[in-house]
Amino acid sequence: MMSAFRLSFVSLLIVLVNGCSIFSHSNSVERISSESGPVARASDGRYQNMFPGEKTYPVTCDENCYPAFEHLECSQHSDGCRFSANNEIPEIESGFTILWLGHASFLVTLPDDTKLLFDPVSDQFDWPIDWLHALNGGMTRRVPSWPDSATSGISAVLYSHLHYDHFNKADIAKLGNEPLYFVHQDTAGYLPQDGLDIKEVSWFSDYQLGSATISAVPAHHFNSRYWVPFLYNDDEKALWGGWLIENDGHTLFFAGDTGYSAHFKKIREHYGSIDVCLLPIASYYHPKYATWYRYVHTTPEDALTAADDLGCKVMIPWGYGNASWQMGDHSSHSPLKRLLKMHQKVNTSLPLVIMNEGESVSL
Ligand SMILES: [Zn+2]
Repeated sequence: MMSAFRLSFVSLLIVLVNGCSIFSHSNSVERISSESGPVARASDGRYQNMFPGEKTYPVTCDENCYPAFEHLECSQHSDGCRFSANNEIPEIESGFTILWLGHASFLVTLPDDTKLLFDPVSDQFDWPIDWLHALNGGMTRRVPSWPDSATSGISAVLYSHLHYDHFNKADIAKLGNEPLYFVHQDTAGYLPQDGLDIKEVSWFSDYQLGSATISAVPAHHFNSRYWVPFLYNDDEKALWGGWLIENDGHTLFFAGDTGYSAHFKKIREHYGSIDVCLLPIASYYHPKYATWYRYVHTTPEDALTAADDLGCKVMIPWGYGNASWQMGDHSSHSPLKRLLKMHQKVNTSLPLVIMNEGESVSL
């Protein structure tokens, strides 16, 4: 979706606005990096994926990928849907309670009430990108309804990358400087100056937060926020990735935006089999640039392969839904239909927990 964000004069305006925050409180930034942590940059100073190059995919849905399902009731074909079947909750007693806030946003609560907020975007894209998209008649979402608990008493906010559907300054303004902020390498400079306590963590490096260990892990994606034609772009100048949470011997993995690559196996090598996996299944479709879209976004069947690589005991899919922007999708719930179809077809024993936005589950 890089082209959607390449909005030159608006981006320039944002840079200027960022530079004008002379009355704000400085942030504190701690860089956390283990021996295996620092990630090499290319000669032009841009980051790269851990496993670049052409990909082959073990499984691909090639026919009848979006069948109707009895327990997925839609207002139109694959759009405006509600999943009504009871999930079979596996008895893993991980202690994680997971609230899906729509698109990529999750609130994960630990047994000691530590509250971790992932990729919070509660409304449209940051201003003025939201205006421009509204004027163009595209790239707006049905705004989800968030409970007060999603923004109050938050222990830590964790970001996967800087794309507008994952990183939103308006939400940072609402959350304030009470939570810690966890970001990937060279991202801290993008947060507004408001006395924020920022932990900039390298891949495979850890931070102890109470009883929980927070680890930054790779993703196979890209990064971009600002672009001025012929003059400037920040493509891949900040790193991207997922997060691995360990608490009381149990693990939860938030993948961030990612395509399928060998990095999933690397994560399992480091941390063992994962109890709870929050994996993206959307944004892989494009009529013209299908190869690129799948390169940086897992299809539903790629997510199932990734879950197998990770040894997930349960998978919660995200990216689809009524409150999604539906970038790179046929419709709001086409990715979920494809996931349900491929889950049956590949005959995996992996438990899926399917949620509607605003629902929570304790695993
Ligand atoms: Zn992205």
